[in-house]
Amino acid sequence: MLNEKKCPSCGKWTDGSKTHCAFCGAPIDAALIAREQKKVRDAEEEKKRLAEENRFERYLRKLQASEKTHHKILFGILNAIFTVYMAVLSFFIWLIAIISG
Ligand SMILES: [Zn+2]
Repeated sequence: MLNEKKCPSCGKWTDGSKTHCAFCGAPIDAALIAREQKKVRDAEEEKKRLAEENRFERYLRKLQASEKTHHKILFGILNAIFTVYMAVLSFFIWLIAIISG
């Protein structure tokens, strides 16, 4: 057969004109493999990021994504409070570092 490619997943020779291996279904096209790997990596990173994010931030994100006007207003208020809270928190951490240092 012409244009055969060796499957990087199962090692069998398969039809190179196809994008996926006829035996195991794994992608055999280099660009497609790179794309699928990137998709898996992105999904993993997104999952990790969401796990690291605390509940408050998740709540804020949900509000931000909402189309309702009062949700947008609430998001604005909460975001401002959160920003001030983080600023105060950073200030105290800095203050403690200065005093103890
Ligand atoms: Zn295969």
